[in-house]
Amino acid sequence: MSSWIDTHCHLDAAEFAADRDTVREQAAAAGVAHCVIPAVERANWDAVRQLAHRHGDSYALGIHPLYTARAADADLSLLAQALEQHHRDPRLVAIGEIGLDFFANGLDPARQEQFYRAQLQLARRFDLPVILHVRRSADKLLKGLRDIAVPGGIAHAFNGSLQQAQAFIALGFKLGFGGAVTYDRALQLRRLAAELPESALVLETDAPDIPPHWLYTPAEQRAAGQPQGRNAPAELPRIAEVVAGLRGLPLAALACSTSANACVALPRLAGLV
Ligand SMILES: [Zn+2]
Repeated sequence: MSSWIDTHCHLDAAEFAADRDTVREQAAAAGVAHCVIPAVERANWDAVRQLAHRHGDSYALGIHPLYTARAADADLSLLAQALEQHHRDPRLVAIGEIGLDFFANGLDPARQEQFYRAQLQLARRFDLPVILHVRRSADKLLKGLRDIAVPGGIAHAFNGSLQQAQAFIALGFKLGFGGAVTYDRALQLRRLAAELPESALVLETDAPDIPPHWLYTPAEQRAAGQPQGRNAPAELPRIAEVVAGLRGLPLAALACSTSANACVALPRLAGLV
């Protein structure tokens, strides 16, 4: 059985409160050897760190763009303190999840940008890669990376153009592919997954979010009270099968290359997997 790295899994999310350890065991049984657990706000920094230690996984610390509205300005200095305290922890592999979201309503773009740039500065200062949230924001994110160079990382749930993908790759980034690639209608994304250099790809679930098509509940069924399917790290090998199929690659070869790529993007992983 191939061995996989889920490079983006919110294992601390409330959706897993009832069965978190079982979810992690099922992932391990499916061949997911390692999960990277990104933080989203100050309130979950301790949780992601403790969880990563409990299951032999890794974590990132940061403030997600969707949480910038409720974050306090002081959270940035508290993040600096947390990094000071934990940056020698081998399981701390990145600053994240950080970025910009110009799709979600009601978020102040200037405030997002302030948090994004401040966290890029922290990535420089602590010499850590970043895990980026990219939604309608690739060009602005790239501009930030050109102004404030960081040691690479992952553009997670990537869904931009080929030119934007190439620009991230040129800056030392890998691109994260997950459940979105399993939908037949995701033509541009599937073309990227098929045609980008193999060295640029990493795999992720973003669980509990971005369910692959086999877990997706259509809008009319949700309106009738059926919940959205919960994504889980155990789905990673089946998502990988889709990517391997698009590329015409044996599954084992994709497992090898994407795991190696994850270790290039997040070098501390190499000591953990
Ligand atoms: Zn995420």
